[in-house]
Amino acid sequence: MNATQVTVRDVAEVGPDTIAMTLATPDGFDADPGEFVLVRATVDGEELARHYTLSSPTVDDTFEITVGIDPDGDLTPWLAEREPGDTLSVEGPFGTVTYEGDGDVVVLAGGPGVGPAVGIGERARSADHDAAIVYLDGTPAHETRLSTLSNAGASVTVANDEDSFTAAVADVADVGQVYVFGFKEFCELSLDALEAAGVDPDDALVESFG
Ligand SMILES: Cc1cc2nc3c(=O)[nH]c(=O)nc-3n(C[C@H](O)[C@H](O)[C@H](O)COP(=O)(O)OP(=O)(O)OC[C@H]3O[C@@H](n4cnc5c(N)ncnc54)[C@H](O)[C@@H]3O)c2cc1C
Repeated sequence: MNATQVTVRDVAEVGPDTIAMTLATPDGFDADPGEFVLVRATVDGEELARHYTLSSPTVDDTFEITVGIDPDGDLTPWLAEREPGDTLSVEGPFGTVTYEGDGDVVVLAGGPGVGPAVGIGERARSADHDAAIVYLDGTPAHETRLSTLSNAGASVTVANDEDSFTAAVADVADVGQVYVFGFKEFCELSLDALEAAGVDPDDALVESFG
């Protein structure tokens, strides 16, 4: 999809410095969790473009992105001020790391990587596949959806330090196809944790947020 103005339906705080933005799905937009969109905006006269990964299990009627707000960042404080009825310029979807609901999954998430983790987990459980999420964050977001997933049979671990994250990865690494979402340092930690667990890191599907 070329750049399209999409309507903001909702902006919800889902954790410390974290928002979930629900956007109206434009005609012809089709995507699966794991894929990402490009959001463009002009903020204080500067043209900005940033990528955000889908955090909803589907894109029927609406789709969602989860944004970690960086108070020193250029775009995310502006995104946090959007309101229902505003429009955003969105292009995509992009990316090759995608979950189409076709098997058991393990999702390793750091920071805003929790967005695709809940989207993929919900998609997997709705198709009766096993889902395991290991999420590293000292100030977790999306706790309601993580707890709903846990009640629905998913394995959910929220770790607040690297050692407990690595130990939790070892417990679930062989549950299914491994996905990794987060910033570069977190992706490197995850690949090390997989290797320590005896899983080939090359088999993991990794989307680094930069
Ligand atoms: C494929 C992909 C998917 C992504 N998915 C998500 C997602 O789902 N959710 C999410 O929250 N993010 C995601 N990201 C990251 C996102 O695109 C942005 O990078 C992030 O939101 C920060 O944007 P910003 O404009 O607020 O911050 P930026 O203005 O880009 O700044 C980020 C930080 O860098 C510092 N900085 C900027 N310029 C300099 C400089 N010249 N020198 C020193 N420091 C500097 C800033 O102070 C700030 O702390 C993804 C990225 C990629 C590549």
